[in-house]
Amino acid sequence: NRRVVLKEYVEGYPTEEHMELVPGGEVPLRLTGDEPAGSVLVRNLYLSCDPYMRPKMSRPLRESYTAAFVPGSVITGYGVARVLDSSDPRFAPGDLVWGITGWEDYSVVKPPVTAFLAKISHHDAAAAGGGVPLSYYTGILGMPGLTAYVGFHEICAPKKGETVFVSAASGAVGQLVGQFARLAGCHVVGSAGSKEKVELLKSKFGFHDAFNYKEEPDLAAALKRCFPDGIDIYFENVGGVMLDAVLLNMRVHGRIAVCGLISQYNLKEGEKDAVRNIGALIAKRLRMQGFIEPDHKHLYPKYEAWVLPYIRDGTLAYVEDVAEGLENAPKALIGLFHGRNVGKQLVRIADD
Ligand code: NDP
Repeated sequence: NRRVVLKEYVEGYPTEEHMELVPGGEVPLRLTGDEPAGSVLVRNLYLSCDPYMRPKMSRPLRESYTAAFVPGSVITGYGVARVLDSSDPRFAPGDLVWGITGWEDYSVVKPPVTAFLAKISHHDAAAAGGGVPLSYYTGILGMPGLTAYVGFHEICAPKKGETVFVSAASGAVGQLVGQFARLAGCHVVGSAGSKEKVELLKSKFGFHDAFNYKEEPDLAAALKRCFPDGIDIYFENVGGVMLDAVLLNMRVHGRIAVCGLISQYNLKEGEKDAVRNIGALIAKRLRMQGFIEPDHKHLYPKYEAWVLPYIRDGTLAYVEDVAEGLENAPKALIGLFHGRNVGKQLVRIADD
């Protein structure tokens, strides 16, 4: 059972040297009986690379909302797996599941298994176009999908005709927020870090406009150009200088949903960007609200029922970036922090 472990806590940008693929011995394809009653043995099929995994690689800090990884232990994260054996009557061999698993070929998930894994009941990988591949449960049908839905519909409370700005717009969450905004009748603009991504935003995801933030010497001016009358809703994925530029361009009574601050995750203490234009919150009577997806799990069935028809009839486009093999998982994860992923980054480690 090969597994990827964190070698040591990370300061600054993570590199492949911070992680190690540890070879393992043969795995019995059944539970041995030594596990706690109610355990489930799974074959991991897809692993998700998510930005929140980076803060978990740091020495634990006060503001973390999830526990840090433990050096020497397997990295955990979202994934899709097949059940091989189960001593929980709710799971049977052959079931497909998604949720929290390990960066390893096989995982034993301890009880209460339903706190970590959910059964997959909708997928049709064979369908050509409009199908629902299993891998979607790492993204549009998984944690990032619910994040985009909750963040946009619950936290931003959009109204038809409002203007919406999304940063990191071509990524897992951003590409969905942009499309949800369009479906809600909003005018939506995104930013991304390459020409190719900007093109994707406009041609594939239906953003009304987009710009490459790396080529804009003055972000506030770029936003003014895209939003001459200001921004009603900002879906915040990056933080730092982008947030400051947005604050200058918000409209009175605008809303900012703080989903993530990826530009800050690899900065050491003392290097993090100050927010200089915070005074705009008062002058413009803005509402700025952070949120985390785990608080909204109860909305998943509602979200899944809402989004599935849009996937099946092609209303929603969805782009994945699939790395091959467990050995390439560390590189794929690190790539998120350099913008190497185009769309949702995941790793296929075994055939469906
Ligand atoms: P993405 O698929 O968007 O991948 C990350 C992208 O961030 C990169 O491709 C890159 O795109 C961009 N990026 C990386 N570094 C920087 C930087 N220094 N400045 C600006 N952009 C940068 O990831 P996700 O969609 O999974 O996550 C997006 C955000 O949502 C993250 O901040 C994440 O932490 C947050 N999140 C929050 C959740 C919650 O519950 N609150 C749940 C899930 C995600 P580019 O080429 O455009 O720079």
